[in-house]
Amino acid sequence: MDAPDISADLTEVLYSSDQISARLDEIAAQIDADYAGKDLLLIGVLNGAVMVMADLSRKLKTHAAMDWMAISSYGAGTKSSGVVRILKDLSTDLTGRHVLVVEDIIDTGLTLAYLMQNLAGRGPASIALMAMFRKPLAMKTPVDVAYVGFDIPNDFVVGYGLDYAGRYRNLADLGILAPRVYS
Ligand code: 5GP
Repeated sequence: MDAPDISADLTEVLYSSDQISARLDEIAAQIDADYAGKDLLLIGVLNGAVMVMADLSRKLKTHAAMDWMAISSYGAGTKSSGVVRILKDLSTDLTGRHVLVVEDIIDTGLTLAYLMQNLAGRGPASIALMAMFRKPLAMKTPVDVAYVGFDIPNDFVVGYGLDYAGRYRNLADLGILAPRVYS
Protein backbone atom coordinates (compact mmCIF):
# COMPACT_ATOMS: atom_id res chain seq x y z
CA MET A 1 0.00 0.00 0.00
CA ASP A 2 1.02 3.61 -0.55
CA ALA A 3 0.49 6.64 1.69
CA PRO A 4 -2.62 7.88 -0.20
CA ASP A 5 -4.33 4.54 0.56
CA ILE A 6 -4.26 5.33 4.31
CA SER A 7 -3.82 9.08 4.31
CA ALA A 8 -6.26 9.55 7.23
CA ASP A 9 -3.91 7.51 9.49
CA LEU A 10 -0.82 9.64 8.78
CA THR A 11 -0.07 13.21 9.79
CA GLU A 12 2.83 13.46 7.34
CA VAL A 13 4.73 11.43 4.77
CA LEU A 14 8.41 11.76 5.66
CA TYR A 15 9.95 9.76 2.80
CA SER A 16 8.36 8.26 -0.27
CA SER A 17 9.32 4.81 -1.53
CA ASP A 18 11.19 6.50 -4.40
CA GLN A 19 13.25 8.62 -2.00
CA ILE A 20 14.02 5.56 0.11
CA SER A 21 15.08 3.60 -2.97
CA ALA A 22 17.34 6.42 -4.20
CA ARG A 23 19.05 6.67 -0.82
CA LEU A 24 19.54 2.90 -0.75
CA ASP A 25 21.26 3.11 -4.16
CA GLU A 26 23.83 5.45 -2.61
CA ILE A 27 24.32 3.31 0.48
CA ALA A 28 24.66 0.10 -1.56
CA ALA A 29 27.39 1.71 -3.69
CA GLN A 30 29.21 2.74 -0.53
CA ILE A 31 28.94 -0.77 0.94
CA ASP A 32 30.16 -2.32 -2.33
CA ALA A 33 33.23 -0.08 -2.18
CA ASP A 34 33.89 -0.63 1.53
CA TYR A 35 33.60 -4.42 1.36
CA ALA A 36 35.32 -4.99 -2.00
CA GLY A 37 37.05 -8.37 -1.93
CA LYS A 38 35.46 -9.33 1.38
CA ASP A 39 32.89 -12.01 2.10
CA LEU A 40 29.94 -10.05 3.49
CA LEU A 41 27.29 -11.43 5.84
CA LEU A 42 24.16 -9.31 6.26
CA ILE A 43 22.22 -9.82 9.48
CA GLY A 44 18.65 -8.58 9.49
CA VAL A 45 16.69 -7.86 12.61
CA LEU A 46 13.17 -9.23 12.30
CA ASN A 47 10.53 -8.13 11.59
CA GLY A 48 11.11 -4.48 10.80
CA ALA A 49 14.27 -4.91 8.70
CA VAL A 50 12.65 -7.22 6.15
CA MET A 51 12.00 -4.44 3.62
CA VAL A 52 15.37 -2.70 3.91
CA MET A 53 17.20 -6.03 3.82
CA ALA A 54 15.36 -7.16 0.69
CA ASP A 55 15.94 -3.86 -1.10
CA LEU A 56 19.51 -3.18 0.03
CA SER A 57 20.75 -6.71 -0.67
CA ARG A 58 19.41 -6.63 -4.22
CA LYS A 59 21.11 -3.31 -4.91
CA LEU A 60 24.56 -4.69 -3.95
CA LYS A 61 26.79 -5.70 -6.86
CA THR A 62 28.72 -8.22 -4.75
CA HIS A 63 27.73 -11.48 -3.05
CA ALA A 64 26.13 -11.15 0.36
CA ALA A 65 24.98 -13.98 2.59
CA MET A 66 21.97 -13.27 4.83
CA ASP A 67 20.85 -14.43 8.24
CA TRP A 68 18.16 -13.21 10.63
CA MET A 69 17.65 -12.53 14.31
CA ALA A 70 14.50 -11.73 16.18
CA ILE A 71 14.69 -9.66 19.34
CA SER A 72 11.99 -8.21 21.51
CA SER A 73 10.97 -4.61 20.89
CA TYR A 74 7.85 -2.54 21.44
CA GLY A 75 5.04 -5.07 21.29
CA ALA A 76 1.92 -3.09 20.56
CA GLY A 77 3.05 0.17 22.22
CA THR A 78 4.93 3.20 20.93
CA LYS A 79 7.70 3.62 23.56
CA SER A 80 10.97 1.68 23.77
CA SER A 81 11.08 -0.62 26.81
CA GLY A 82 14.85 -1.07 26.87
CA VAL A 83 14.20 -4.74 27.61
CA VAL A 84 16.00 -6.91 25.05
CA ARG A 85 15.37 -10.60 24.58
CA ILE A 86 16.62 -12.85 21.77
CA LEU A 87 13.55 -14.58 20.37
CA LYS A 88 15.36 -16.20 17.41
CA ASP A 89 19.11 -16.54 17.14
CA LEU A 90 21.35 -16.80 14.05
CA SER A 91 22.08 -20.08 12.32
CA THR A 92 25.47 -18.78 11.09
CA ASP A 93 28.78 -18.98 12.97
CA LEU A 94 30.20 -15.44 12.95
CA THR A 95 33.82 -16.45 13.52
CA GLY A 96 36.01 -14.62 10.99
CA ARG A 97 33.04 -13.17 9.08
CA HIS A 98 32.56 -9.58 7.94
CA VAL A 99 29.19 -8.78 9.50
CA LEU A 100 26.88 -5.92 8.60
CA VAL A 101 23.78 -5.64 10.78
CA VAL A 102 20.83 -4.21 8.85
CA GLU A 103 18.24 -2.39 10.96
CA ASP A 104 15.03 -0.57 10.21
CA ILE A 105 15.30 2.20 12.79
CA ILE A 106 17.38 3.38 15.73
CA ASP A 107 15.24 5.09 18.33
CA THR A 108 16.77 5.06 21.85
CA GLY A 109 19.60 2.80 20.63
CA LEU A 110 19.06 0.48 23.59
CA THR A 111 18.19 -2.53 21.46
CA LEU A 112 21.13 -2.17 19.11
CA ALA A 113 23.67 -1.35 21.80
CA TYR A 114 22.86 -4.71 23.34
CA LEU A 115 22.74 -6.55 20.02
CA MET A 116 26.03 -5.17 18.66
CA GLN A 117 27.83 -6.07 21.89
CA ASN A 118 26.36 -9.57 21.81
CA LEU A 119 27.39 -10.14 18.17
CA ALA A 120 30.86 -8.61 18.61
CA GLY A 121 31.50 -11.27 21.25
CA ARG A 122 31.06 -14.03 18.67
CA GLY A 123 34.44 -13.47 16.97
CA PRO A 124 33.58 -11.74 13.66
CA ALA A 125 36.45 -10.34 11.55
CA SER A 126 34.52 -7.04 11.52
CA ILE A 127 31.11 -5.81 12.54
CA ALA A 128 29.25 -2.69 11.42
CA LEU A 129 25.71 -1.35 11.40
CA MET A 130 23.40 0.03 8.73
CA ALA A 131 20.12 1.67 9.78
CA MET A 132 17.51 2.96 7.35
CA PHE A 133 16.17 5.54 9.82
CA ARG A 134 17.55 7.12 12.96
CA LYS A 135 15.99 9.46 15.54
CA PRO A 136 18.93 11.51 16.86
CA LEU A 137 16.76 13.27 19.45
CA ALA A 138 15.61 9.98 21.00
CA MET A 139 19.01 8.36 21.48
CA LYS A 140 19.77 7.34 25.05
CA THR A 141 22.96 5.42 24.40
CA PRO A 142 25.59 6.02 21.71
CA VAL A 143 25.48 3.54 18.83
CA ASP A 144 28.18 3.53 16.17
CA VAL A 145 26.32 3.50 12.83
CA ALA A 146 28.39 3.11 9.66
CA TYR A 147 25.50 3.79 7.22
CA VAL A 148 22.31 5.78 7.89
CA GLY A 149 19.47 6.23 5.43
CA PHE A 150 17.74 9.25 6.95
CA ASP A 151 17.70 11.07 10.27
CA ILE A 152 14.06 11.67 11.24
CA PRO A 153 12.20 13.62 13.92
CA ASN A 154 11.30 12.10 17.26
CA ASP A 155 7.84 10.92 16.21
CA PHE A 156 6.33 7.45 15.98
CA VAL A 157 6.64 6.41 12.36
CA VAL A 158 5.20 3.53 10.35
CA GLY A 159 5.79 2.00 6.95
CA TYR A 160 8.70 0.45 5.08
CA GLY A 161 8.71 -2.50 7.49
CA LEU A 162 7.79 -0.53 10.62
CA ASP A 163 4.47 -1.47 12.20
CA TYR A 164 1.99 -0.34 14.75
CA ALA A 165 0.25 -3.35 16.35
CA GLY A 166 1.09 -5.45 13.30
CA ARG A 167 -0.24 -2.98 10.74
CA TYR A 168 1.40 -0.60 8.24
CA ARG A 169 4.51 -2.76 7.63
CA ASN A 170 3.48 -3.12 4.01
CA LEU A 171 3.17 0.63 3.51
CA ALA A 172 5.81 1.45 0.87
CA ASP A 173 6.50 4.96 2.21
CA LEU A 174 7.51 6.18 5.68
CA GLY A 175 4.97 8.33 7.52
CA ILE A 176 4.20 9.74 10.95
CA LEU A 177 1.31 7.82 12.51
CA ALA A 178 -1.59 10.06 13.52
CA PRO A 179 -1.82 10.06 17.35
CA ARG A 180 -5.57 9.36 17.16
CA VAL A 181 -4.68 5.85 15.84
CA TYR A 182 -2.93 4.88 19.09
CA SER A 183 -4.42 7.16 21.72
P1 5GP B 1 15.34 1.32 20.27
O1 5GP B 1 15.85 0.20 21.14
O2 5GP B 1 16.42 1.93 19.41
O3 5GP B 1 14.65 2.36 21.08
O4 5GP B 1 14.20 0.76 19.34
C1 5GP B 1 14.41 -0.33 18.53
C2 5GP B 1 13.17 -0.87 17.92
O5 5GP B 1 11.98 -0.20 18.32
C3 5GP B 1 13.19 -0.75 16.41
O6 5GP B 1 13.90 -1.80 15.82
C4 5GP B 1 11.72 -0.76 16.07
O7 5GP B 1 11.28 -2.10 15.99
C5 5GP B 1 11.07 -0.09 17.24
N1 5GP B 1 10.81 1.34 16.96
C6 5GP B 1 11.52 2.40 17.37
N2 5GP B 1 11.00 3.56 16.93
C7 5GP B 1 9.91 3.22 16.20
C8 5GP B 1 8.95 3.99 15.46
O8 5GP B 1 8.96 5.23 15.36
N3 5GP B 1 7.99 3.27 14.83
C9 5GP B 1 7.92 1.91 14.88
N4 5GP B 1 6.92 1.33 14.22
N5 5GP B 1 8.80 1.17 15.58
C10 5GP B 1 9.80 1.81 16.22
